[in-house]
Amino acid sequence: MANLLELKNVSKVYSRGLINTKATIALQDISLTLRENEPTILTVAGESGSGKTTLAMLLLGFTTPTTGQIIYRGKNITTLHGKQRMAFRREVQAVFQDPFAVFNPFYTVDHLLTVPIRRFKLAKSRADARNRMDEALTAVGLRPEDVLGRFPHQLSGGQRQRINVARALLLKPRLLIADEPVSMVDASLRANILETLRNLQRDHGVSIIYITHDLTTAYHISKSIIVLYRGAVMEAGDIDTVIKSPRHPYTQLLVDSIPWPNLEKRWGVQPIKARDSGASTEGCRFRSRCPMAMEICKTPPPLFRIDAHHTASCYLYAEQPQVAPDHLSELLPA
Ligand code: SF4
Repeated sequence: MANLLELKNVSKVYSRGLINTKATIALQDISLTLRENEPTILTVAGESGSGKTTLAMLLLGFTTPTTGQIIYRGKNITTLHGKQRMAFRREVQAVFQDPFAVFNPFYTVDHLLTVPIRRFKLAKSRADARNRMDEALTAVGLRPEDVLGRFPHQLSGGQRQRINVARALLLKPRLLIADEPVSMVDASLRANILETLRNLQRDHGVSIIYITHDLTTAYHISKSIIVLYRGAVMEAGDIDTVIKSPRHPYTQLLVDSIPWPNLEKRWGVQPIKARDSGASTEGCRFRSRCPMAMEICKTPPPLFRIDAHHTASCYLYAEQPQVAPDHLSELLPA
């Protein structure tokens, strides 16, 4: 089966300074595959500084990998030109955190939706353009008559974020990069937007990479998860297994920090140590914060296979078989 997206051993390193150049590894040896005919929702989770936004920028082609390749439908995205580049721009869409940022306060919603229709020559006539707008707005649960003709300040944050999703949907994308799409939206509207994203995957065949620090929304929306810490994969697998039985000490701390609506369960039983800015880049990247750190952790841990759909990069599971980084996707449920 053909692949929609392949990341092959992708790393991104940023260098600072001219004389004492310091390198920051934003992403380290990430491999990942999404299949063409199996639309899925994959969460990439982690705190700020985990590399998840760098990953979004790489996937959208806004920055290039330092090493490794990103292959979209068989083509390395750094080599795309002309029509192929245009097709990539249309088929890979993004929804970002801030539902206000993409709106120009002086233009109505119609303008925001008309721009991509014109740019990608999607409609043959004004009526056709209007039909496409109506279709996209209806698909995200908005009534066109409620939002068309209105200015951004006349809409709620939830409406604005759904218009952003509708704007992406207009282009009939194959892949949506959703970077913290509900973190600036009222809690009461989050479920609505998450359901909209799920409908895109289910009814429109769009694969979604859902980037978040919030494991609760990740649990509700996705099928599989990759947990990143300082650019490296800590744990990955089936979302249900990873959230209910996290095995990596970092994921355990993240799950423990979720404020469950259960008064019997104490929140934050294990303290999460503050991030240390001078943390070593050698060995396990979580070592300086890990309550279980051992001598062997000074050597970078490989991924260990915990079960068919679960892997962790931690020596606590050293008796388990190892998983090569480029075989990570084989453990993620489709
Ligand atoms: Fe902790 Fe060692 Fe596992 Fe890293 S490899 S998470 S330092 S026990």
